[in-house]
This record gives sequence, structure tokens and C-alpha cells, in this order.
Amino acid sequence: MNKRTAGSRVSASDAAPAHWMIRSNLVNRVLDVIGDAWIMQILSVLMSGPHRFDQIVALINVPRSTLAARLRQLVEAGCVIKQEAGAKGRKGAPGYRLTAKGGDLAPTLKLIRQWNDHWRVSGRVLSGAMPPNPCGHAANVEVICACCGRQSDARDMKVFQSSLHPVEPRLPPNKRVRTSEVFAESDAAIPAEGVLGDRWAGLIVAAAFFGATKYSDIEGALRIAPNILAARLERLTKQGLLSRTLYQSSPPRHAYHLTEKGLSLYPIIVAMDAWARKWMKPREDLGWRILHKPCLEWFAPRIQCARCKADVF
Ligand SMILES: [Zn+2]
Ligand SMILES: [Zn+2]
Repeated sequence: MNKRTAGSRVSASDAAPAHWMIRSNLVNRVLDVIGDAWIMQILSVLMSGPHRFDQIVALINVPRSTLAARLRQLVEAGCVIKQEAGAKGRKGAPGYRLTAKGGDLAPTLKLIRQWNDHWRVSGRVLSGAMPPNPCGHAANVEVICACCGRQSDARDMKVFQSSLHPVEPRLPPNKRVRTSEVFAESDAAIPAEGVLGDRWAGLIVAAAFFGATKYSDIEGALRIAPNILAARLERLTKQGLLSRTLYQSSPPRHAYHLTEKGLSLYPIIVAMDAWARKWMKPREDLGWRILHKPCLEWFAPRIQCARCKADVF
């Protein structure tokens, strides 16, 4: 499984094993918190201020038991706090509001919504008005390289092994991976939260970013059951995020590459990674770093207002 060669050439696929990069990826930990379409909807609603339980139910039409469970998760993760609305000694309806940690997910949610707008996805997408950027502009946000100022583009990134003895990555928690409850399986115009809210789909997209594109490589990297992998690949292809090419005809073997639409998820992933670095404070050496090819510096992102270029994170 470790296909690293003894040679000195380093490329995205052999600098560090793909399964290592996928597992040690901080985005996994972010998706443990927000990788659920309902949670993203709830966060989006709370971005505009505190809300009571019943208000959230009415706004996004979420089943009450689902909302209760998701709010519990968000409180445990330190993203939301529950505050008593009633006067002292009187039973009042509890309200929920974002903590600073939860509020810092705003750029990620904005990027998700921008992706949805750009690709004109239909159906149920993130609802509620997004608050303006800290500069006051209701403009889009953008992710750039802090060194050279270029917009982040997955094609400009190259992954390098940075440590000879990196810490063994923790496996993502063995959560039950469920099909999104909010989006139809076959929805061709699925919003970004629908893609990222399906853990297997998110991991397959991550594998493609890290250079695991052949069916057998993805299977090995994710240790995913073949029937689940086949179904997700078919769906991601139908959704226009991956394109399938035949690289060997007998027996037929396919490779899956990110399309323009799939590649454009990258800024969202960068924003999630930045959030994880700020709030989850990873101490261990991940064992790999990302080089920004245009400026040849290790990639450090800046998330800024698209209009005045002020930092939003
Ligand atoms: Zn750069
Ligand atoms: Zn601005």
C-alpha cells in the first residue's frame, strides 16, 4: 500500500501515501463537526443571530428530533451555546447562538453558498441571510495565497512529504456514513453541502485532490467496500464533479479525475483547513506540506473580502 519509491523524485502521488494524507487531513476533523447537510443549514440560520428552537424548525423545516440531535452535537463541539431566554426563575424558551468558534465558520459557509450560486444548484440549499463580511461589505469572500496573492487553485498545489517520521495519523472516527437525508441520491445539481455532507463522497473527492484517481488506488486509500465505492463514483460522475476515463481496455480499468466543478470545491476545503488550524490546534506533524507552485512557497491561505480585500478570517 505504501508505494513510495526510493528515488528522489517527489510527486503528489508518491510524496506520501495517499491514504496517509487523506486520513491525516484536518478537513476530516472539520467534517466530523459540520459534515452534515442539516448542520450546515442550522449554522447558516444562526449566522444572522440567536434563534429559538421553534424558529429554526420553522425556517428550515427540520424534524424536531433531528434538530435536537444536531444542536447537541454543535454544543458539544463548542460551536453553539444554549441560552435561557426567560427571566430569572421563569421558564423561558431556550435560544441558541453561535460561539466565536462557530461564527468563524462563516467564510466556509459563504464559500459553500458561492459555489452553489456559481454552479446554479437547485433545490434546498443553504438558507437564511448571510451576515456581511467584517468590513461591512455583503460581498463574496475569496481564498488567496498569502505570499503571492493568487486565487487558490487546486492545480497550483503540490504535496510534499515534510517529515521522515511523521506521527501515524488517527483514523477518522468510524462513524456511520449515511446518505444525505436532505438531498436526493440522483440529484445532478447537488449543492456543495450535499457533496461534503456525505462522508464517503467527501473522502473520494479528497483522494482525487491527493492524486489517487485510479479505482484501485481509491479503494486502497480509503479501504472502502467496492459496492459503496462504485455507487459513489457513479453519483459523483453524474453530478459532474468527476470525469471517468478508460486508461486500460482489457480488462477495462477507469480513472476518475476532478472536473472544473470538482476542482472548484478547493477553496471551501482550504477554508475548513484554516478553521481547523485555528480552533482545533493540531500539534502533531502531519508529515506533508503543500507547495504553491506559482511562488514556490509553502501554501498559507488568506481569506478576504472580494471587494475591499480585507481579511475576513
Ligand atoms: Zn503563492
Ligand atoms: Zn470588504
